[in-house]
Amino acid sequence: MGPGPSDVSPRVLNALARPTLGHLDPQFIGLMDEVGDLMRYVFRTKNTLTMPISAPGSAGMEACFANLVEPNDKVIVCINGVFGGRMKENVIRCGGVAVEVVSPWGTQTSPEALEAALKQHPDTKIVAFVHAETSTGVRNDAETLCRIAKQHNCLTIVDTVTSLAGVQLEVDDWQIDATYSGSQKCLSCVPGISPVSFSDAAVNVIQNRKTPVQSWFLDMNLIVGYWGKGAKRAYHHTAPVNSLYAIHESLLMVHQEGLENAWQRHAAHHQKLVNGLESLGLSFAVSQDYRLPQLNVVNIPDGVDDAAVRSELLRRFGLEIGAGLGEFAGKVWRIGLMGSTCTEKNVQHCIAALDAVLNN
Ligand SMILES: *Cc1c(COP(=O)(O)O)cnc(C)c1O
Repeated sequence: MGPGPSDVSPRVLNALARPTLGHLDPQFIGLMDEVGDLMRYVFRTKNTLTMPISAPGSAGMEACFANLVEPNDKVIVCINGVFGGRMKENVIRCGGVAVEVVSPWGTQTSPEALEAALKQHPDTKIVAFVHAETSTGVRNDAETLCRIAKQHNCLTIVDTVTSLAGVQLEVDDWQIDATYSGSQKCLSCVPGISPVSFSDAAVNVIQNRKTPVQSWFLDMNLIVGYWGKGAKRAYHHTAPVNSLYAIHESLLMVHQEGLENAWQRHAAHHQKLVNGLESLGLSFAVSQDYRLPQLNVVNIPDGVDDAAVRSELLRRFGLEIGAGLGEFAGKVWRIGLMGSTCTEKNVQHCIAALDAVLNN
């Protein structure tokens, strides 16, 4: 019950153990097409360029910035936690100019602050932000932030690593141009795959760059030769075939449950966890107006030894919870209810274990 990886179901582990096919085998290509369709389903998009990057969420982040940012491009990066900070680092390494819109940890990115930054920097090309900030447990208002960005004719890059399949996300309706996620959070797959999706407007920008993408491996112009639908597929890199069986299975599980039912399940079990933790006298670090159900950030009570509690939970109860990150280190615990981990049984186990460790 940490901030990922979440529990991987036996169904996904069994898929991982199937015989390894060649990455150009006709049967495998059929599976690739299904993976693309299922990713479009969970992202709620019709984007043709929707596919897995063969690497973790951080590589999906690099893929979005490396393809869309050219030297001297101005990018507004909204920062209210660790992952927004990494976006800024990506902009700088692509030779772009990063303009920061900073909001305090534990609060949402302010739409007014974004609007002000866009007025002050009319030459901005891209607005980037994190939908679900895993370091703070805050859900940013992606719909509003994208609407403002679009009013100023900007492209949007949105980190959906922790939000995908855990809370409502509408890539097309909210006008998200480029997004990346991760396999090991609410999709409950093994780590190491990053679903990404690019709008036609983003693809147009990528195809008309003045300079080549500085990363050969992540250049989408080359990757489409392997992942592109219809066209004759050619070798780009050896796909992680077994990991793709696994993500195919996890996406199928979300599809069978129904995406909206999955959002509901996260919301319902989150509420049970809130009730249980509050009955133990624990408080949340984030206002309930924009809390993430899949990542619960709880204040560590005064006088309680952070590391000692976490190691006792692990030793006595086989339960992992996450430590605070960055500014929140030592101040909070991060309790994940992501994907397959998000069950009634786990909620009860977590409350009982914390009760035993804190009150005995
Ligand atoms: C976990 C996470 C990442 C990084 O994903 P990796 O798979 O660890 O590379 C990026 N952004 C957010 C919001 C995350 O929670």
